[in-house]
Amino acid sequence: MIPAVTLKNGAKMPVVGLGTWRTETGKIVEAVKVAISSGYRHIDGAFVYQNEEEVGAGIRAMIDQGVVKREDLFIVNKLWCTFHVPSLVRSACEKTLKDLKLDYLDLYLMHFPVGMKPGDELFPVDENKQNIPDDSCFVDTWEAMEKLVDDGLVKAIGVSNFNKDQIEAILNKPGLKHKPVNNQIECHPYLTQEKLIDYCHSKGILVTAYAPLGSPDRPWASADDPSLLEEPTIKAIATKYNKTPAQVLMKFHTQRNVVVIAKSVTPHRIKENIQLFDFELKEEDMKTILKLNKNWRGFAAPWASNHKDYPFNTEY
Ligand code: NDP
Repeated sequence: MIPAVTLKNGAKMPVVGLGTWRTETGKIVEAVKVAISSGYRHIDGAFVYQNEEEVGAGIRAMIDQGVVKREDLFIVNKLWCTFHVPSLVRSACEKTLKDLKLDYLDLYLMHFPVGMKPGDELFPVDENKQNIPDDSCFVDTWEAMEKLVDDGLVKAIGVSNFNKDQIEAILNKPGLKHKPVNNQIECHPYLTQEKLIDYCHSKGILVTAYAPLGSPDRPWASADDPSLLEEPTIKAIATKYNKTPAQVLMKFHTQRNVVVIAKSVTPHRIKENIQLFDFELKEEDMKTILKLNKNWRGFAAPWASNHKDYPFNTEY
């Protein structure tokens, strides 16, 4: 069984989950089924991944076959940027629930702090290819998300890609009813996020690491980008422990009390990515991995760089 951490609301969040971004059509249903049959209980998704019906079908199949009960699963989803206007938040969440065929989410995250023009386009841009913001403020979006908890649509709420100042803005909101329980951020040995993780932990906010393997299938990857799975230091540590580079990259997070989500549609990799609990990385190896940091982002989100709430211009 995958260990879990307890959230502020008492819910248990398994420390390893399956990512579902960029899963090729037709493959994700099977990937979710393989994952749940192999012991995964935490599935990470988002409206913007445009595959919620398939993710939901995989979950439903496992529930119907009696492999798992709904209450054993921890289902995470995210509010997309074009639904930040407070009056749109509830219907966005309801649509996700309908597509997933679920009654509630265990955790709903604001995907990105930037609000964008509502409508059918996921990335609305003007004639100069600049994103078109809406006139929302993420603190007001948060207030609308709080109502989702009160109304039972979601058990907990959190944020994603938020910097320290943006988290503070939510924590300082007058009349705050529900604190963020989680910040899901890009994190791996080339972007170790030590200050942001320390800050989140000091506020009782759990961190989830996305792109833990460096997201080698991201569409904008360039040949010059560094490759974590090919990183000699990681490979050498993997050999030492008789593990794979992916397992070392995943273990790096769980040993820092960080939850980790990797995406795979390959059955043997899905299984490999949870075989993490029969070894411990020595402190010296953790330190060596931390030294690989170069503040390199695979997800710098240039499409939002001109937005007033772009999160990556501050130190952390
Ligand atoms: P990952 O770092 O998880 O890398 C996924 C890639 O690694 C796929 O090409 C996969 O191939 C490959 N892979 C998986 N396991 C192994 C293995 N054991 N050995 C070798 N290669 C492997 O990148 P993601 O960007 O997908 O990040 C993980 C998840 O985080 C996403 O799927 C999504 O759920 C979430 N996310 C959230 C973001 C946010 O803004 N909040 C942004 C980006 C991601 P294959 O599938 O072919 O096996």
